[in-house]
Amino acid sequence: MLPEKKSGQVSRVAFRLTQFCQRRVFSTSSFCPICISNSKMDEIDGLGQLTDFRRLCSDLTLQTKKEGFFKDYLAAIVDQVSEEEFQEFSKQQTDYDRIRYCWTLPALHKTMKSFRPSYRGKSADDSAKRREQGNEAFKEKDYRKALKTTLALALANRSAVLVHLKEYQLAVRDIQLSLQSNYPEKQRYKLYDRMGYCHQQLGEPAKARVAYTVALDCLAQSDLELHALEQWRQTIEKSRSKLASSNSNTSNTTTVNELPELLGGAHPTIPNASRNLSLKVDDDCGRYYVAADDIKPGQTLVCEKPYAACLLPGKFTSHCHHCFVRLIAPLGCMTCRAVFYCSVECRDEAGSTYHQYECGIVDILTASGSSILSWIALRILTKGKLEDFLAAREQLEKGDGRLVQPADNYSCIYHLATLSHLRSDKDFFDRTFMALFLFQCLRASGFLPTRHRYEEDALNISDDEIYIASLLLRHLQLLQFNAHEIHEFVQLNEKNMRSTKTAYIGVGIYPTVAFFNHSCRPDVARYFLGTAMVITSSRSIRRGQMVAENYGPIFTHKHLTDRQQSLLGRYWFQCQCPACKNNWPIYDGMPDMESVLICCPLCRGPVQSVNASYARCTKCKKQSLWEAIRRPVDEISSLYQTAMRIMDLGQVDKAIQVLSLYIEMMETLVDDLPIRELFLAQEALRLCLGTYGTKYVATSHLSFKAAGNPKV
Ligand SMILES: [Zn+2]
Ligand SMILES: [Zn+2]
Ligand SMILES: [Zn+2]
Ligand SMILES: [Zn+2]
Repeated sequence: MLPEKKSGQVSRVAFRLTQFCQRRVFSTSSFCPICISNSKMDEIDGLGQLTDFRRLCSDLTLQTKKEGFFKDYLAAIVDQVSEEEFQEFSKQQTDYDRIRYCWTLPALHKTMKSFRPSYRGKSADDSAKRREQGNEAFKEKDYRKALKTTLALALANRSAVLVHLKEYQLAVRDIQLSLQSNYPEKQRYKLYDRMGYCHQQLGEPAKARVAYTVALDCLAQSDLELHALEQWRQTIEKSRSKLASSNSNTSNTTTVNELPELLGGAHPTIPNASRNLSLKVDDDCGRYYVAADDIKPGQTLVCEKPYAACLLPGKFTSHCHHCFVRLIAPLGCMTCRAVFYCSVECRDEAGSTYHQYECGIVDILTASGSSILSWIALRILTKGKLEDFLAAREQLEKGDGRLVQPADNYSCIYHLATLSHLRSDKDFFDRTFMALFLFQCLRASGFLPTRHRYEEDALNISDDEIYIASLLLRHLQLLQFNAHEIHEFVQLNEKNMRSTKTAYIGVGIYPTVAFFNHSCRPDVARYFLGTAMVITSSRSIRRGQMVAENYGPIFTHKHLTDRQQSLLGRYWFQCQCPACKNNWPIYDGMPDMESVLICCPLCRGPVQSVNASYARCTKCKKQSLWEAIRRPVDEISSLYQTAMRIMDLGQVDKAIQVLSLYIEMMETLVDDLPIRELFLAQEALRLCLGTYGTKYVATSHLSFKAAGNPKV
C-alpha cells in the first residue's frame, strides 16, 4: 500500500507527502491536514509516529493488511505515476474530477491489463464451465431433472433430521422446497405427513389438517402394497382426527425477537429515534443528539435497520448472507456457491436486489483483499437502482448536507461527513483507485448497462459512469467515519450470563445512529437483532445533555493518551468528553463506592472519626453520628448486591430494573465521578440488555474472538 519501492528508496509520492506535511505544520501551527497534529498532540506522541499511525488507520479502511491483490495493483500504479501527474491529481477539487482525471492516466490502463489474468480469469472460467454444463443438460434433457431430484431427496432427508432436532419451522421449509424441486410423486404422502406433524407441533392445527388431507390424497399415487397402504392411511387419519382435541405443547423454537418500542414513541421527524432525543447542530460538535427530556437508564432510544450491511467473508458459511442469523439449515446461492441463506425469503430478497449483481463478483472482491467498508461502498449502490441514482444526481449535488435529517434514504447517506477538507492527496489518490477498482467490478456485474471487457473500448467512460464511480469514492470516505460493526452475543454457558462475549460478524451503515457523537464514557449501550441495531441508555441523562455513544476506546480500559491517539488516528478528532477533560483513572485506579460515599451528610466534605459513635467533617466542622453517615452507603450497597444476585440467577428483566435503579441512585449521589461499582453496574446493565439481542449459546469446542471497535 505505502508507496515505497522495494530497494528501500522512498518513492516520489511519499517524499512529497513528507514535505507537504512538514510545511503545513511548521508554517501555520494549526492542524496539519495529514496527521491532524497540533502542538498538544506532539506531546502525546512523536509527529512521525502519529502520521504513520494515522496513515495506517486510513489504509486499513480501504483494504486488509496483507491479503489480496489490490495492494500490488495499487503499488504498480503508484510506480508508474509521474510527479507531474500526481501534482495534477492534487489540483482536482471534486470526486467527479478525481475519477475523471485518474481514468485518463496511462498507468491505470496499463496496470489493468497486467492484472487481467488474476482479476478476470477465475470468474470467466467459472461462467464457461457453467455454460458447458448448461449445454450438456440441454443435450440430455434428464440431466437437469436428475439434479433437481437429487436436491429434492437431500432436502427431504434434512427435513427428517430437523424434525428430530425439533426445528419444526425449518423442517417445514425444507419439505416445501423439496416438493418444489421435483420430489418423486410416489413418496409425497410421506412428506405431507411429516409436514402435518410439524404444523401440529408448531400449534397450527388448521395447516396440519390440510397437510394430512393432502397426504391421504397422495397415497393414491404411491406404489405401496395394499397392506402397507392401509396402515399408512390409518396412521394419517388418526393423526388428523386427534388434531381438534390436541393442544400444542411445543414452543416455536425459531421465534425471532421483535424490535422493542422506543421510549415515548417515535420522534416526529426522525422515525427510528425516540421522542426523547432531539438533534442539535453547532460549530464545535457538528450534529449530535441531546436529551429532549430526562432519560433513565435502560430505555430504548434508537431502533434501526441498516441502510446497507455486509457480512464478513469469514462468516459466509456460518451466517445468513442477508439477515446475519446463524445458519441451522443453510440454503446456498445456486450460482456462486459462495454465500448461504437462512430462508427462502432471505435468498429471494438478496437475489432480487444486490446479490443479482454481486453474485458474479464475490470471488474477485474476496481475492482483492478489499476491506469490508469497500464492500459496503459497493453495496450501497447494488441494493438500489441505477436509474434512481442517476435521477437524484442534480438534487444530491445541490443539496445542503447540514440540513439533512437522519432518515432511511440515500440522500442522508450521501451527506454524512467525509472530512474531505482534512484528507491528504495521497489518501485521495489511494481511495480514487479503490473506487475505480470497485467501478470495474460494477461494470463486470451488469449493474451498469455497459459490460466492458479489458479491450480497447474499456477506455471509454460515460459521464454517468464517472458520476457512479465518484459516488463510490464518496462512500469510501464517509464509511471511514460512519459505519458500525455488527455483533452477535455469544454465551459460552447457557446458565452463566457473565460468560458472554460479543463476536464481530459484519458491518453496517445506520443513518440515525451515525449522528451520535463519541464519548469515552458513553451514555448508551447497543445490541443487535439480526442486522437491526438497538440503542439503549446505560446512564441517567438529564434534559439538554448530550447523548453520546462510544466509537471504540472506553476510559475504564484505555489510558487517556491511548484513547486520544486512536480517536485521532481513526476518526480525526480530539476527544473532549468528561473522562478525557478530567483525565479520569482507568478501572484499576478508580475509587470504590465506600470511599466516595462516606462523607459529611451536610456538605459532603471528608470526615474524621471522633470516637466510635461520632465523626467530624473536616470542611464544615459539624459532628455527625457514624450511623447517619453509614446508613445511605449500606442501603445502596445492598441494592448493588441484590442486582448482582438477580443477574446471576438469570432473571434478566428484573436485573435490568434493579440495575437501572441502582445506577440512577448512584448518579444522584456522586454526581459525575468515576466510581468502580457504578461502572460495573453499567457494564452489567449492558450485558443484560445484550441478551435481548441475537444470542448464540456456544458449545465448548468453539472459540470466539472478542469484538474490538464498535465503529469500524
Ligand atoms: Zn436470513
Ligand atoms: Zn450468488
Ligand atoms: Zn474521551
Ligand atoms: Zn460538612
